[in-house]
Amino acid sequence: MGHPERRILGGMTHTSVSAYAAPAPKAPLERITIPRRELGAHDILIDIKYAGICHSDIHTVRAEWGDDGAFPIVPGHEIAGVVAEVGAEVTRYRAGDRVGVGCFVDSCRECANCLAGLEQYCTGELGNVGTYNATGRDGETTYGGYSTHIVVDENYALRIPESIPLDAAAPLLCAGITLYSPLAHWQAGPGKKVAVVGLGGLGHMGVKIAHAMGAEVTVLSQSLRKKDDGLRLGADHYYATSDPATFEELAGTFDLIVNTVSANLDLNAYLGLLRTDGTLVQLGAPENPLPVAAFALIPQRKSIAGSMIGGIQETQEMLDFCGEHGLTADIEVITADRINEAYERVMASDVRYRFVIDTATI
Ligand SMILES: [Zn+2]
Ligand SMILES: [Zn+2]
Repeated sequence: MGHPERRILGGMTHTSVSAYAAPAPKAPLERITIPRRELGAHDILIDIKYAGICHSDIHTVRAEWGDDGAFPIVPGHEIAGVVAEVGAEVTRYRAGDRVGVGCFVDSCRECANCLAGLEQYCTGELGNVGTYNATGRDGETTYGGYSTHIVVDENYALRIPESIPLDAAAPLLCAGITLYSPLAHWQAGPGKKVAVVGLGGLGHMGVKIAHAMGAEVTVLSQSLRKKDDGLRLGADHYYATSDPATFEELAGTFDLIVNTVSANLDLNAYLGLLRTDGTLVQLGAPENPLPVAAFALIPQRKSIAGSMIGGIQETQEMLDFCGEHGLTADIEVITADRINEAYERVMASDVRYRFVIDTATI
C-alpha cells in the first residue's frame, strides 16, 4: 500500500485511507475510503499491518447491541502495526516502532479512574472513546483497524515487544487484556485453581495466561471436542459441561472462574464449583439477564463480578508479560476479501482461535 493521500475535508485537512466497512446494519463489509485526521502534536500515524476479528465487531455491524451504530462502521480494535510518522511533541514513540491499539483511543484523562490507570472505566462525559463506532473529543466518528492506517494519541498506543510477531500480537489487544486483567486482579498464580469457561478466542488466551501465571488451569467446555488443544495451550484438566458428573466431581474446587461464554449459562451450577471466597467473573455478555439464587452465594461467601478489558498501563503490562513468556494468540491470517466469510465462521465457532486480517490486502 502506498502512502496515504492528503486532502481537505470540511475545512480540516485529512488523509484518505482505505478500509473495510459495513455500510449498513447486517450488510456485508466492503472496501471504502475513510478520512484520518492530520497528526496533532501528540498523535502518531500507524501503518497498520494486522487487525484481529473480535466477536464484538460482528455484534456491532449487525446492530445486535442496539441500533445506534454510526454507519458506515469500520470495525477493528485489535490493531498491530508500525509507527510511520509522529507529531511535533510526541515523546513515547519514533517512526519504525512496533505498536498496538486496543479497544479505546481516548478518555477524559481527569476522572479518578483515568488518573488510576483504569481508563476503560472512565466516568467522564465521553467515557472511554471506542476505537470504532464512537465519537471522539473532536466530535468526529472513530474508525477502527480494518484499515491501512490510523492516527492515535501516543498515550493510547501500546508498545509490542520484539519477541511477539505482529500478526499473533493483534488479538492480545482485546482478547489478551480481557483475560489478563481479571486473572491479575483476582491473583491467579501458584496454588490457585482457575477455571476458564469456553475455549474460543477469549478462552484460549485465558488458558495460556493463567498457566503462565502459575495457576492450575481447568477448561470447562461444552464438549471434549477441543480437549487436545486445551491441554496443548496449557490447561491441566479439561471437562465437558454437557456431562452432569462434571458438576458433582468439581464441586467446591475453584478459587476463580472466568466465564467467556456469551450465551446464557446456568450460573448457579457454576457457582457450585467455587470454593469458599471464590469468585466467578463474567466476561461474555449474554443478551438476557442471568438469574442467580442468593443461596448460591451466601453459604460460602462467594462473589460474582464483571470485568472489561484493561487500562493502558495494564495492557502494556500484559504485552510485556506475553513477550517474556512467549505467549501469542493462535491465529488464522486472512485477506480482506474473506472478512465476511470469516464472520460466518466465527459465528459457527469454526476458528482456532482468532482471525487476523492482513491489512496489506485492504
Ligand atoms: Zn474485542
Ligand atoms: Zn476519565
